[in-house]
Amino acid sequence: MTIALSQFEEVRLDRVSRDFGTLNALRDISLTIRRREFIALLGPSGCGKSTTLNCIAGLLPVTGGAIWLDKHRVDTLRPEERGFGMVFQNYALFPHLNVRQNIGFGLKMRGTLKAEMDRKVDEALSLVRLQGQEHKLPGQLSGGQQQRVAIARAIVIEPPLVLMDEPLSNLDAKLRLEMRAEIRRIHNELGATTIYVTHDQDEALSLADRIVVLRDGVIRQVGTPKELYEQPAHLDVADFMGFRN
Ligand code: ADP
Ligand code: MG
Repeated sequence: MTIALSQFEEVRLDRVSRDFGTLNALRDISLTIRRREFIALLGPSGCGKSTTLNCIAGLLPVTGGAIWLDKHRVDTLRPEERGFGMVFQNYALFPHLNVRQNIGFGLKMRGTLKAEMDRKVDEALSLVRLQGQEHKLPGQLSGGQQQRVAIARAIVIEPPLVLMDEPLSNLDAKLRLEMRAEIRRIHNELGATTIYVTHDQDEALSLADRIVVLRDGVIRQVGTPKELYEQPAHLDVADFMGFRN
């Protein structure tokens, strides 16, 4: 494995808030994510999951609080300076670029030399199991394959943190299960640190080391799947998780 994710110990959100006008979309979100963790950000539509992820990525400025990568404050940096890998629900691939060019795009932007770029793209292709598809355009691929390209593109830049926003919600049920297993396999093989946004309790329970339950812009509970099951902090958490009848 030559893709080497940047080394760090933890990402820390310290009382992060985000307002949209008078709406407090996020309020005092404090959370520490350790290297190699798979964190699910779980909650109903509109609770602030994408806002949290976009604040971490730098696509959206925070209106309060700070975000730290070890001792480095990152919420003041531009997205490309943070260098986190992003995977979106709609894949967001370049339709006119083939698989290899899509995956290599970020490396090219960084001025990576061709030989090194080819080597890294080959490795990413192999990790997401897309060898042989590299000259196809996104439109010639299935939804699952397109999402594999998007994942390869996110990890090929060797990001300290991989951020995924409902990456499976455009796939049919069968493919969703298959790609769920693939995402965890890739996370493990890479030794990645992943924050995975979902509104699907089963997805969070089966994928995550720890689950962050969000509601109305605040954290209701953080815990392992087992902890949430055995000691839900509130009845509404137990209800939302489907642990009560
Ligand atoms: P989720 O991803 O959990 O469905 P979001 O983070 O997208 O939720 O949204 C959280 C809240 O912030 C919602 O009430 C949403 O309407 C609001 N919101 C999100 N983005 C914007 C925006 N650009 N302008 C105004 N309100 C927004
Ligand atoms: Mg969302």
